[in-house]
Amino acid sequence: MQVISSGIQKQMAGASWIRKMFEKGMELKKQFGAENVYDFSLGNPDIPPPERAREVLLSLADHVVQPLGLGYCPNAGLPEFREALAAFLAGQQNSPVQAQHVVITCGAAGALTSFFRAVLEPGDEIMCPAPYFVEYGAYCGHFGGVLKPVHALPPDFQPDLAAMEAAVTEKTRVIIINSPNNPTGCVYSQATLTRLAALVDRVNVNRERPLFLMSDEPYRFLAYDNAVVPPVLPLSRFTLVLGSFSKNLSMAGERIGYLVANPTMPDVTVLMNAVTMTNRTLGFVNAPVLGQRLAMALLEEGVDVSVYDRRRQAMAKVLKDAGVRFTMPQGAFYFFPEAPGGDDLAFVQALLEQNVLAVPGTGFGFPGYFRLSFSVEEKVIVKSAEGFKAAMDSKRWQ
Ligand code: PLP
Repeated sequence: MQVISSGIQKQMAGASWIRKMFEKGMELKKQFGAENVYDFSLGNPDIPPPERAREVLLSLADHVVQPLGLGYCPNAGLPEFREALAAFLAGQQNSPVQAQHVVITCGAAGALTSFFRAVLEPGDEIMCPAPYFVEYGAYCGHFGGVLKPVHALPPDFQPDLAAMEAAVTEKTRVIIINSPNNPTGCVYSQATLTRLAALVDRVNVNRERPLFLMSDEPYRFLAYDNAVVPPVLPLSRFTLVLGSFSKNLSMAGERIGYLVANPTMPDVTVLMNAVTMTNRTLGFVNAPVLGQRLAMALLEEGVDVSVYDRRRQAMAKVLKDAGVRFTMPQGAFYFFPEAPGGDDLAFVQALLEQNVLAVPGTGFGFPGYFRLSFSVEEKVIVKSAEGFKAAMDSKRWQ
């Protein structure tokens, strides 16, 4: 009996490496005890939300016992939150964004899915630099979109602009970029972004259906050593930004994100109305109202970034001492080091034998490297040092 669709069957067979490692980790934790397993596989932000979240939630308790306090809200989000977020984004993006250019979604994931539903025809191509956030393929694939990754340039993983330009076809509908990047930690430079936007504008001169430049920015708040994350909206009329409060407020489970479009994009109102509708009809209906109110109250706040920076330094020391080669991440909470000997699956297996969980670069469309999430306590990072050394010593890797 075939109870599921062939497309989903295929997706399940190629189940995400992150998921596989997560399950492996659960097994190891049962066997050896959680304190003896060093799990760098998941990007689940573990720093507590700002202390004021408690006060805000308590004050919301009175609010929600009113009629419609927990009722459906407008599909594009609470009007007062859209207003406040638009004003915030206008400053961040240096662009005259207003509420009508913003749709509140169920996380950045919901923004991507609703956007793809609104703009894709079957066979349309979505280009992104590789390595990339692995769910992009599934999100666009639901609507017949085809992901076309183009290898970025190690060691710093800036996008390969010449290769991207060469890979643009008539079917390329969206270019997605993600900076600070998951999994490399790369922050895209102003020059890179300006050139990408110019490419999009050149392509659109001859287009009936435009090519969009979409910037996925859930890690915008997390840039180290004063690295600047340049705004993308001012660079072209065909730009969109999506973001979320999953990481900066450590509220990934509340599912609050947004899509914001360049206010001068042709037919921007049609597009935002379409995304509002797909957000509804895909079954999201509206983003959770409690989460929206919480995010609105904490719009100017964030988790303590210095904690992540200390972990970054600790992880860099562990890797360096073990002789693992890596580029220091400029942002986000990931390292993407080279797998010694070039075989990421073999090295991740060697780490696993030391109870260290990592994700092979193969899972992000970039074999030969592996990802470590440092969204874990500093003491776990420090304690993992022996495991990295033992994995390096377990074999002649070169
Ligand atoms: N985009 C990237 C690059 C991510 O790393 C993530 C989550 O890890 C998402 C999007 C989805 O985030 P959200 O929780 O806002 O849906």
